[in-house]
Amino acid sequence: MSKVVEGRLGRVFIGKLPYNSDLLQAIKSLAEELDIQAGYFTIIGAVKQAKLRYYDQEKKEYLDFAVEKPLEIVSCIGNISKFKGELLIHCHIVLADREGNTYGGHLAPGTRVFAAEIHLQEVAGVVLERAYDEVTGLNLFSL
Ligand code: ZN
Repeated sequence: MSKVVEGRLGRVFIGKLPYNSDLLQAIKSLAEELDIQAGYFTIIGAVKQAKLRYYDQEKKEYLDFAVEKPLEIVSCIGNISKFKGELLIHCHIVLADREGNTYGGHLAPGTRVFAAEIHLQEVAGVVLERAYDEVTGLNLFSL
């Protein structure tokens, strides 16, 4: 059975993230600055190099990999919630190289921004907490 909470659209922001910043950290810092407790976002732009993560469903662990070259951010989407009292940015990204080959996965720390335009939507009136889920081994929404 699916579980949801009902919120309402809050503030909306459009802007850019700092050159050479860590993409994941830049999203988190911005959300903290704007005091966003729950929300979602999209980003387009480019990165100098990327660190991605794949979740192995058998081993229940993240496997990291790097793509060490300049890439376009074809698509980057994510949500903002809380885990153990802190903001948690859950973000997935698809990147393309010069030939149009794509790399995708869960965004990890170590992805360096070349240019990044963010569209950030706050969801008001909800508390979106995460908790460890035994079945998947992931920190899922605790609804
Ligand atoms: Zn993920």
